[in-house]
Amino acid sequence: MKTFKIGGVHPRENKLTAGCAITPAPLPQQVVVTLSQHIGAPAQCVVAKGDTVKVGTLLAQANGFVSANIHSPVSGVVTKIDTITDGTGYQKPAIFITAEGDVWEESIDRIETLITTCDLDAQAIIEKIDQMGIVGIGGATFPTKVKLMPPPNMKPEVLIINAVECEPYLTNDHALMLAKADEIIVGIEILMKAINVHHTYIGIEENKPDAIELLKQKTAHRNDIEVVRLQCRYPQGGEKQLIDAVIGRQVASGALPVSTGAIVQNVATAYAIYEAVQKNKPLIERVVTVTGKSLTRPGNYLARMGMPISQLIEAAGGLPDDTGKIVLGGPMMGKATANLDTPTGKGTSGILVIPDTEAHRQEPSPCIRCAKCVAACPMGLEPYLLSKLVAKSDLETAEDRRIYDCIECGCCSYSCPAHRPLLDYIRLGKGRVMAIMRARAAEKK
Ligand code: SF4
Ligand code: SF4
Repeated sequence: MKTFKIGGVHPRENKLTAGCAITPAPLPQQVVVTLSQHIGAPAQCVVAKGDTVKVGTLLAQANGFVSANIHSPVSGVVTKIDTITDGTGYQKPAIFITAEGDVWEESIDRIETLITTCDLDAQAIIEKIDQMGIVGIGGATFPTKVKLMPPPNMKPEVLIINAVECEPYLTNDHALMLAKADEIIVGIEILMKAINVHHTYIGIEENKPDAIELLKQKTAHRNDIEVVRLQCRYPQGGEKQLIDAVIGRQVASGALPVSTGAIVQNVATAYAIYEAVQKNKPLIERVVTVTGKSLTRPGNYLARMGMPISQLIEAAGGLPDDTGKIVLGGPMMGKATANLDTPTGKGTSGILVIPDTEAHRQEPSPCIRCAKCVAACPMGLEPYLLSKLVAKSDLETAEDRRIYDCIECGCCSYSCPAHRPLLDYIRLGKGRVMAIMRARAAEKK
């Protein structure tokens, strides 16, 4: 069975919410909508305190090419424009809205009818995706329009839909595939038209046999969309790993993934594109997996952006007494937060509540030079060496050893028998090396 060639691990899957259908979360009474729910420049606020908004009203305009529009997830009144401390401790500008009723912009088609035909041309599709604030909602939150407009010398040949969901615990993409397969397929057709390719692969790991079966059934009559069953292996959802697994091509260090001829889009993004293009619906809600071994009602909740994570945890049965850690995302790439007021955003794929008995790291011991971290690294790096170089502040050698290629997947830390905090060091060093590289590039201009 297909998978990527270098490194990777297979952590315990713990997909506790597999089989949980999508449940709408209760409407929030107040939302905090941050202006940077995407990679790139924060959007520019276009509303003021006291303004009345509907669901879908534009709140903030993309500020540059790599940025994204942000729309209101509720109807109500803008009460404040301020900064908040986000889940990872950074200050972010945000719009506070007190909800009143649930009144939607009239332009949004809320009728549950499948619309299969799309008369827009490629440019109009990309403009629509841009207007509706669509970003990659698999986790990267890269503005989708940017990925659909590759440099002129790079011609996409195929579309790859990332339906891998290799992070333990998360099942939001799985639930979406089971509930919205027809809409996802129309979203794929729209994407193919936008980038002018004639073949799509949908990569799904073998632990989702019902989703594989359903999508195979829905595409059985056509030869332009192919479902690819993949072996379970983390981090197969990484763009470079998925391209390798599906079409056997490698993205060179520093190159764009499209240089291989493939454009990768997450399956939930394909659904968001269907809603944006066919229903005029901006990205104002998403499916969030709220999970944990001690939660009484873990599930896949359809949540409006900007609602506090506390409200989603409440919907899942409330914070268990034995909670030791709350993670935004999955256990491998997610970030721990101590702030229950953290608002959900376009990139919030999951909220994981970890019991205290499993929340603590083990004491690190000296490296025994077993090279397990090297074998596990999907980017072919030497994590033990990189972490040592960062600890010694030898950033020059760390750059020579391609620390910038690290995708922060955590496979090295996960596989280390000495429990060395490898990724912590590498992430720190990578940030510093990339800042040096950016400064050097700016000097040359
Ligand atoms: S976190 Fe970075 S160094 Fe560690 S395994 Fe992943 S890519 Fe390699
Ligand atoms: S896995 Fe841990 S102990 Fe083994 S070489 Fe890497 S850092 Fe050292």
